[in-house]
This record gives sequence, structure tokens and C-alpha cells, in this order.
Amino acid sequence: MHITRNGINTTKGPGEWFTGTVYIDAVAAPASSSRLSANSVHFTPGARTAWHKHPNGQTIFVTEGVGLAQRRGGPIEVIHPGDRVFFEPGEDHWHGAAPTRFMTHIAMLDVDDKGNSATWGDHVSDAEYAAAPAVEEA
Ligand code: MN
Repeated sequence: MHITRNGINTTKGPGEWFTGTVYIDAVAAPASSSRLSANSVHFTPGARTAWHKHPNGQTIFVTEGVGLAQRRGGPIEVIHPGDRVFFEPGEDHWHGAAPTRFMTHIAMLDVDDKGNSATWGDHVSDAEYAAAPAVEEA
């Protein structure tokens, strides 16, 4: 058993992988035979990942706010707290916050044999992002 106390600094999502401001808290890191990687990812309004793929797929579980997710060739989907999305291995996709809302999700995946969690592509352009359906106000 190994306890990691609440003392790991929040990191900022790197600009190569994200558009806008994103903060990441590590939840689980691969160690010895465990390949599990999990992060709590906090997207500010309008922030999103770049297009990317995960070698073994990924599950995201929304805990806060209103988010968006899209697979290549599909519509942009609006996602809410309690929603869970699985991206297939190798499926090109992005995820992030709605334009006017924060969004937090827990992102979980198994890294590959070399410890890779993702392959990154182009940023989601403003034009691509603008195709999102309107998020209704309560
Ligand atoms: Mn992903």
C-alpha cells in the first residue's frame, strides 16, 4: 500500500495538447504492473483537447459543468455530470468544456507497453468548435 497525500500540485494542460486553459490533478499513475492512468481534468469555458487517440481507449466521467465531445466524423455531443463516454482504441476524438461553462471530468485509460497514453494531432479549430449545439440555460 502506498498513500499519496494531497500534495501533488495541479498542473496546467500543455498548449500542444489543449486550446484554452486547462488544469490537471493526477488521480492514478501507472506503476509496476498497473497500467491505469487517471486524471481529474478541469476545463475552463471554451477550453478543449486537441484531436487525439488513445492506444487502449479511454473513459471519461463528467463530474461538473457542461462539456462537449466528438469523434472524427460524428456530431459534437453535449455531456453532463454523471455521463460517461468511452472512446474506442485508436478512435480520433476530442473533449472539453462548453463555450460558456466550466467542465470537469475524470479521464481513465490504460497506457500501452511503452507507457504512452495518447497520440496527439491538430488543435480543434474555432470553426470546428463553433459547430457545437447550443447549451441551454437553465
Ligand atoms: Mn481523450
